[in-house]
Amino acid sequence: MEPRNSEGTSRGSGAEQLGSSGMPGTVYLVGAGPGDPGLLTLRGREILESCDAIVYDRLAANVLPTELGPQVQLYYVGKRADHHYLEQDEINTLLVQLAREGKQVCRLKGGDPFVFGRGAEEAEALRQAGVPFEVVPGVTAGIAAAAYAGIPVTQRGQAVRLCLVTAHEDPTKPNNQVDWKCFGTDPYGTVAAYMPLANLAVIASEMIAGGLDPQTPAAVIERGTLPGQRTITAPLSKLAAKVKKAGIRPPALFVVGKTVALHEQLSWYQERPLSGKRVIVTRPADQARQLITALRKLGIEPLMCPAIMTVPASESELAPLINSLGGYDWIFFTSENGVRYFLAMLEKLDLDIRALGGAKIAAVGSGTDLRLRAYRLRADFVPTAFRAEALLAEFRQQQPVAGLRILRVRGDRAKETLEEGLRAAGAEVDTVLAYTIQPAQVRPDVLDSIAAEGADAITFTSGSSVESFETLLPGHGLHAQVPAYCIGPVTAAVAEEVGWQNVVTTEVSTVAGLVDSLRRGLAG
Ligand code: SAH
Repeated sequence: MEPRNSEGTSRGSGAEQLGSSGMPGTVYLVGAGPGDPGLLTLRGREILESCDAIVYDRLAANVLPTELGPQVQLYYVGKRADHHYLEQDEINTLLVQLAREGKQVCRLKGGDPFVFGRGAEEAEALRQAGVPFEVVPGVTAGIAAAAYAGIPVTQRGQAVRLCLVTAHEDPTKPNNQVDWKCFGTDPYGTVAAYMPLANLAVIASEMIAGGLDPQTPAAVIERGTLPGQRTITAPLSKLAAKVKKAGIRPPALFVVGKTVALHEQLSWYQERPLSGKRVIVTRPADQARQLITALRKLGIEPLMCPAIMTVPASESELAPLINSLGGYDWIFFTSENGVRYFLAMLEKLDLDIRALGGAKIAAVGSGTDLRLRAYRLRADFVPTAFRAEALLAEFRQQQPVAGLRILRVRGDRAKETLEEGLRAAGAEVDTVLAYTIQPAQVRPDVLDSIAAEGADAITFTSGSSVESFETLLPGHGLHAQVPAYCIGPVTAAVAEEVGWQNVVTTEVSTVAGLVDSLRRGLAG
């Protein structure tokens, strides 16, 4: 299997060679928890951030850091209803092979690796192959999804036992190992059943046939701990019908027992305003955090599809200007990236901000202004307009432009209208390329998820991300179905140009403005 790394190149070797040290790497069987990225353990995060390869399942994908170093190889081995990406023994072989190449491997699994996760089979295969491994337990769905639904799995006087059980097998088939009737004799136990949807009705009737009160409180929790979490509760005898009607889909957990009744009082991870909505995020991963956090707060599931990534330009771009750096009257930054990468260039050239002398600073866009403030720099001019013409008019109102020496910091895809306008007004303008924009690669689990379940909206924060999305997923077929929410009129115009049929332009051209538009657009 070829890896996908975040640079978008493949570099699997397939050869069973040892790493440079001659020793096999270690495989870490890491529990990712049930979905909420905050439920990954510290040890798990440490391994994710330091390993060479990540082999992950779909349910574990939520905890993947939005920014991964380009050296990390990603292997998606998740299972889909219609096809397997890799069979279990192929996964085992892959783990052994990667370790024998000397790699530190994070095998990331949903929940806890040893709870219905086939982690034990992987550990056995590794032991047999002589590959060292460690196990990092995770928060299992049976406890966490219940907790997020306000259902304590034990409670004095009501539930003195918890049973984690697989509901995967059809109870009516021979060789089924779970005796559901036996739960009928245990009114003071909680049962948390994994993979219950296919057999829910028959399991409930088996439990009742075994003596459990048909009125026993029962629940199914869909997508527990994730933004779109839903909880369906009913007396045991009525639950299956209600769940079917609600169209509950995996991953879902079935919980039965007296404490399920506490959901009414203790439910706290409330249905959020936009619970269950799915929004494609195309913003580059390193700048998407604010947007993702805001979306999750509303209950929206972000589908990470960064169409582009920014790559710093070489500091040699700045070298020819070094001697004149102190002589500019103004420096124009038109993006956060411009600020970030320009200052990094100075640092690489062993310079600091004083190299810019007394130049005034213009920041186009509030994100640019905020980024400057993070470096303790105050912009002298933050135009309210974003389009070059309007912005120039605003700048000219402030002072005469003729004769000014201006440095414009830019990315490779920026339009040249700004410097042309400044020059036409009599300024002397130099430009420095601080970064380039390159297409990124979409994670296969995200692609699968979009293909299978669609999306309620897509967000674009720049014209270049609109364009790159088309190159990234040619023929994606989303233009007519999915509304495109765009920051600012320039981005919106590009979206219309490439064919998005329902383009929404945010009133305020900031990430907060974008989230606001989504909130209004997706409600109801
Ligand atoms: N190792 C995992 C379980 C893997 S089996 C763990 O410890 O949680 C997969 C099943 O786990 C799903 O079919 C579902 O029953 C349950 N599950 C996993 N994540 C879940 C979630 N976020 N909400 C509800 N159930 C979940």
